Order: sequence, then C-alpha cells, then structure tokens
Amino acid sequence: GYRKGGYHAARIGDRFAAGRYVAQRKLGWGNFSTVWLAYDTLCSRYVAIKIQKSAKEYAESALHEIDLLSSIAQGDDSKSKCVIQLLDHFKHSGPNGQHYCLATEFLGDSLLKLIRYNRKKGIGLHRVRQISKSVLSGLDYLHRELGIIHTDLKPENVLLVSTIDPTKDPTRTGLPPILERPEGNPDHFKRVNFGDKWLKIRAKRAVAKISQRRVSLGGVMEMDNRSLEGVDLQCKIVDFGNAVRGNEELMEEIQTREYRAPEVVIGSGYSFSADMWSFACLVFELATGDTLFAPMASDDFTEDEDHLAQMMELLGKMPKKIAVAGSRSKDYFDRHGDLKRIRRLKFRPMDSLLVDKYHFTETDAHGLSNFLCPLLDFEPEKRPTASQCLVHQWITGS
Ligand code: ATP
Ligand code: MG
Ligand code: MG
Repeated sequence: GYRKGGYHAARIGDRFAAGRYVAQRKLGWGNFSTVWLAYDTLCSRYVAIKIQKSAKEYAESALHEIDLLSSIAQGDDSKSKCVIQLLDHFKHSGPNGQHYCLATEFLGDSLLKLIRYNRKKGIGLHRVRQISKSVLSGLDYLHRELGIIHTDLKPENVLLVSTIDPTKDPTRTGLPPILERPEGNPDHFKRVNFGDKWLKIRAKRAVAKISQRRVSLGGVMEMDNRSLEGVDLQCKIVDFGNAVRGNEELMEEIQTREYRAPEVVIGSGYSFSADMWSFACLVFELATGDTLFAPMASDDFTEDEDHLAQMMELLGKMPKKIAVAGSRSKDYFDRHGDLKRIRRLKFRPMDSLLVDKYHFTETDAHGLSNFLCPLLDFEPEKRPTASQCLVHQWITGS
C-alpha cells in the first residue's frame, strides 16, 4: 500500500515533471502502480501517468517497461499498432520515496469493465470479433516485428480506445474540465473549462460525476452500453511490466492464473505461443462472460493440478510426450501421462459447452470453437500465430 517503497498517494491538482502534468483523477491501479489521468500543459492534451511504487524491485520493473515501450513506440510511427504509446517518463519524489512515472496516451476502460458492464453475459460476437482483431494486430506487431512476449495478456490489460472523433460531436468529448488545486483552499478546486468558464466545485462531486457506471473509450468518456451500439470498438494492449524479449532468458512463472498456458504450469519453457493461449482464454471470456478456466485447490490436489484437469476436460488428454516434458511434470503426472491425483475427467468439448451452458446456436458455437481450439493446442508450436489468426475466417468474416 501507501507506505515507504509503496504507492505514491497523488491528489487531484498535484503537479508532476516540474509542473508539466496536472493530476485529474485516478484511472486504475495494479500491483505495481497507480494510474492517473493528467493534463499535459505543454502539449494541451490528456495523458495517463503510471506512478510506480518506489521500492527497488518496482523501479527496476519500471525501467524495464520504459525500455520495452520505447522500442514499441519507435516501430509505431503511424500510432496504429494496437499497443499503448509511451509519450514521456520521469521520476517523482514523494513521502514514500522516488517513483518512476510513465506518461502514456490516455485510453479508455479495460475489457474487464466492459465484461462487467454487460453483467457477465458476454458482449456479443460482433464486438468480440472487433476486439479480437485489435488484440491480434497488437500481438502480431509485438511478436513478429519486435520479438516481444507480453506474458500477461488478460482483460485488465487491454484497454478500449475511441474511433470516434470527439471534435466532430462535442457532446461526446466527455472529458473532465481541467481540475487545479487553488492556493490556500484545499477543499475547493478550480474547474477550468478550457479557459473561458471558471467554476468552483467540490472535488468529490466532480469525481463522482465522472465515475458513473459507464464504459469509457478514452478521450470519449461516459458512454453507456446502449450508446456503444454501432461504435467500432478498438483497443490497445497495455502493461509491459512483465513482458520479455523472446531471446532473453525467461522467467519461470508468468501469466495470471486463468490465462496461464499448460507449458508454463508444468515448467517446460515457453515462447510467443504462450500469449496465443492467453488470447484464446480472453476471447472465450468476452464471448461468454465467464473465464475459460477457473482452477481451485482442494485438500486432495493443488491449483495447478485442477488447472491441468480442466484443460484436459475441455481439450482432451494432453499428449504423453508433452505431459512428461516439464520440470514439474513428475509432481502431477504418472509415467503414463495421467494425472496422479485427479483420476476421473469429464470430457466436454468447447462447442457443446457453448451450446449447453451459454446457449449459443450450433453455427456460432462451431465457428468460435474452430477459431479458438487450435490456439489451445497443448503443443505450443502447433498454435497458430497472430498473423495466421488475422486471416482466419472467423476474424475476416468471409
Ligand atoms: P499489474 O498489477 O497488472 O502489473 P500495473 O501496476 O503494472 O498492473 P497497469 O496494468 O499498467 O499497472 O495499469 C493499471 C490499470 O490502470 C489498468 O488496468 C487500467 O485500468 C488503468 N490504466 C493503465 N494505463 C492506462 C491508460 N493509458 N489509460 C487509461 N487507463 C489506464
Ligand atoms: Mg495490469
Ligand atoms: Mg504490470
């Protein structure tokens, strides 16, 4: 939390980078950082500032993220690669220490919020397809052009971005007025309405107004679900704190549990294809509102074992040569390649799951599972690449 080595407690109106950025409101947080919407007074635009925790390991992770995001920005002149754009970085000193800060383009809500706003019922296949296209373009750029493995692809780490030009429809700009902390009156904030109108309002009210149950597209805020109809959804991949270059020495444990690939669970090494596994889990979740896998430990088996069992119930038995190839294989599998502690598996393939549990039509279920199942191949080398997925019939719609 907010202690030495931990988060920096920013407040509305705080200034960063020698006054250049003015904090507007908190956009989100993770294990490593808090993220604020800020107004960039030099370039007259809104940006997001990720304020990293200050302890040494977080500082190192921030430097790593800056390094990767710099490569990402360099290769993305057109700014259309569906990966977040780094704009600036600097250090900020606070009571809890020195914090690395990353200024990036301001994006909208995460896919997790989009899933929740739709009451966990799935967001409709049309939107799933649009979002999949964006995420695949981002992955294709990272994998093929830059050689970067994201390693933590999940709904929280994909943010919506607007394709609407707010200048064309001023009712949809939705951007908060610039909030500044006036001297000598900590309770009140000047509301600067782009220079012409000055109003005094309580900060609390301003923030409450902005944070209603609405989906924000970044730049274009406060859209409810109905007004999302007909909007071309686009998104960008964020959070490169755990990303690695494919030719670097790799960490053992990567990915968030639900999105973790089998080769990571059993410890047999991983590559770009681990992101493709997570991508398939993400698409399933967008389509149904449920995580594809939800592993849990019990008295009789570990979370890893339940995870492997759930994978095999959906995808069939893991080929023996793969099951026994990991550094942790001996803990989970016997010499026949069967799970030691979970013996009886109930096979339920994805298309019947989609029909029975999620009431998909046969056609929709076949279409989606034909797209996703090859991505969930136990053999990582067999999984399609992002560029192959981009020309798949389910994506192109032909
Ligand atoms: P993690 O614990 O997942 O590693 P983290 O501390 O590295 O998280 P991020 O995932 O980069 O932080 O950001 C945390 C959250 O802040 C995101 O999930 C998102 O809700 C919000 N956020 C991050 N960047 C932006 C942005 N550019 N625009 C809008 N919101 C953002
Ligand atoms: Mg994150
Ligand atoms: Mg991170």
